[in-house]
Amino acid sequence: MSCLFCKIIKNEIPAQKVFENETVLGFKDIYPQSKEHYLFIHKSHTENILELIKEEKSLVEVMKGLSEFAENSKLFENGFRIVTNKGKHGAQSVFHTHFHLLGGEQLGGFGVN
Ligand code: AMP
Repeated sequence: MSCLFCKIIKNEIPAQKVFENETVLGFKDIYPQSKEHYLFIHKSHTENILELIKEEKSLVEVMKGLSEFAENSKLFENGFRIVTNKGKHGAQSVFHTHFHLLGGEQLGGFGVN
């Protein structure tokens, strides 16, 4: 298995882990796009969000892990953003489904604000 994030799960590649339970791992993004930037993944491999949605239990588990972390972190008070990229136009670069958790500062809006 040559998946980068599977290697992080198996501790074959180092990562700055911030959350771990039996099924979910959260770690710092190596190229942070905001002051706080974490990645949350399920330990069972799926390639993208559409595959993960079909594994409903895993989808709920990864969201609950992210939520548990966010509620107990300094992101809780001022809020955060969750992003997942899918495929070429989504600029997905690692093909193990992951959720970016971004915050720690004011992020730009998508709309007129
Ligand atoms: P995406 O472009 O949405 O597929 O996101 C992949 C993310 O993984 C990017 O934000 C990268 O900075 C991040 N990344 C790549 N390699 C590592 C690594 N070894 N440890 C932590 N984050 C990584």
